[in-house]
Amino acid sequence: MAIMITDECINCGACEPECPNTAIYEGGVEWTWGGGTNLSEVELEDGTVLSGEDEMEPVSDEFYYIVSDKCTECMGFHEEPQCAAVCPVDCCIEDPDMRETEEELLTKKAWMHGE
Ligand code: SF4
Ligand code: SF4
Repeated sequence: MAIMITDECINCGACEPECPNTAIYEGGVEWTWGGGTNLSEVELEDGTVLSGEDEMEPVSDEFYYIVSDKCTECMGFHEEPQCAAVCPVDCCIEDPDMRETEEELLTKKAWMHGE
């Protein structure tokens, strides 16, 4: 499953540079599919086609947040979720609403990075 950041976050920013998928953004900052990935275009389930450079609505305006669709739990890069490893207040936790198998996470990683 993907990792999520709770409202215990103290906005220290330590997690952001650690993410191999650029799935972590500062609160209030727009995110992109193409940031830190090779995605130049993305087709959503409803058929909408987006550019990798399109700026997407922040998931949180108050705290650092994780784009679930870009989080692979660091699979394919690291042994454990790097955000959780560096977070000083342990607020990077498993997201119960984003349960994915290891295979699904590795497929997501390959899709994002063009492998
Ligand atoms: Fe990024 Fe890894 Fe944290 Fe997911 S678990 S947000 S891929 S650092
Ligand atoms: Fe928030 Fe933890 Fe990331 Fe710091 S490392 S910004 S406390 S989630």
